[in-house]
Amino acid sequence: MDPISDSPPVKSLPTVALKKKRAMPFFNQHPWVFTGAVLSVSGNPEPGDEVIVRDDSGKFVARGLFNSNSNIRVRLYSWDENTALDRAFWDQQIKDAVALRVDYVQNESTTACRLINSEADGLSGLTVDRYGDWLLVQLTSLALAERKEILFDLLVEHCSPRGIWLRTEKGIRQLEGLEIQDGLVRGEEPDRSISIRENGLTFVVDVAEGQKTGFFLDQRDNRRALAQYTAGHRVLDLFSYSGGFGITAAALGDAASVICVDSSQPALDSAQQNAEANGVSEKIECIKSDAFKYLETARDESAQFDTIILDPPKMTRTQSGAKTALRAYHSLNDLAVSVLRPGGILVTCCCSGHISPDDFNRMLSGVATASGRRIQILESRGHAADHPVSPNCPENAYLKCLICRVL
Ligand code: SAH
Repeated sequence: MDPISDSPPVKSLPTVALKKKRAMPFFNQHPWVFTGAVLSVSGNPEPGDEVIVRDDSGKFVARGLFNSNSNIRVRLYSWDENTALDRAFWDQQIKDAVALRVDYVQNESTTACRLINSEADGLSGLTVDRYGDWLLVQLTSLALAERKEILFDLLVEHCSPRGIWLRTEKGIRQLEGLEIQDGLVRGEEPDRSISIRENGLTFVVDVAEGQKTGFFLDQRDNRRALAQYTAGHRVLDLFSYSGGFGITAAALGDAASVICVDSSQPALDSAQQNAEANGVSEKIECIKSDAFKYLETARDESAQFDTIILDPPKMTRTQSGAKTALRAYHSLNDLAVSVLRPGGILVTCCCSGHISPDDFNRMLSGVATASGRRIQILESRGHAADHPVSPNCPENAYLKCLICRVL
């Protein structure tokens, strides 16, 4: 029997026992058992092995995959004692994930989406993005990396991609003790600029070298929402990356002009390419600058915009950094408001998971007070539907996007 593709019977599986009073989150289907919750491990599991998790009285909690190299000692996948973590199980999870996107997200005008969103799709440690005919896979758990050949085969079976590219996020190898090689794992090598459709527009994506996984798919619906407000506007798209917001405002939202600002030249080169692909290059100007510095200069020159988008990268990776990050969000938003005309639209985003929606709202309330401007939140938004969130693992809800009118 292949220990990876076929799960052994329950009785012969190693067991991880949880400390007294620490089992409740896992009965409630939280998928991460951290080292601190573990009372004992029996049966000598190797990293990647399937284990049974029990509470301190021996009651079955869940089936999961063990990793002694990681702070997440066990990732849980099945809360049914009889559902083994075998090929049939992974097959069903992938099928369910793909069906969500086929039914509700992908269509002629949107050919790129997050196909598998880790915990929320019951596949903790696996993220897959579809870019047209290609799939980009990220493995963030050693146990799933050990099962990668099965997962790749199943993705081929269910999605028939032209190729699958594997890419590993910085830092994950050390966190999980992963030894995997990035690159082509199935089919044909993708182009350096894959052309995708989003909301009926065309964007180029570099899956190998582009930031994050090549494109910020999570903002798709927020870009379309913004387009309702921008007719005739002078738009400032800060932290523009490849121009997702700005180009949508110009092409779908009929904005008069858009300035895309980013500190990365390759990002702006893609923005320029995207502007051309959508026939709006005359409206788009790309400026390489630090966004804070750009705003300070604009304020000193008394510039005015009708719409400003703020979509900065994550400002903290830890809870302890949240306070400092909130101060940075405050300065950024305060600066933006100072160059926004009365009645203008502010789209302010936060992708730091350690900052709650309430904290972010409070930050904005502080900006209203400090600037003496009245801010109305018109839409309080999050990720698009292809980035579902599990109510059992709210840690995965990171994106906040507020569309506001500033008087
Ligand atoms: N709004 C984009 C995604 C933004 S990702 C979209 O819709 O696709 C964050 C971007 O901020 C990255 O492109 C990164 O290069 C840029 N960036 C990071 N720090 C910056 C800074 N201080 N000033 C300007 N851009 C910055």
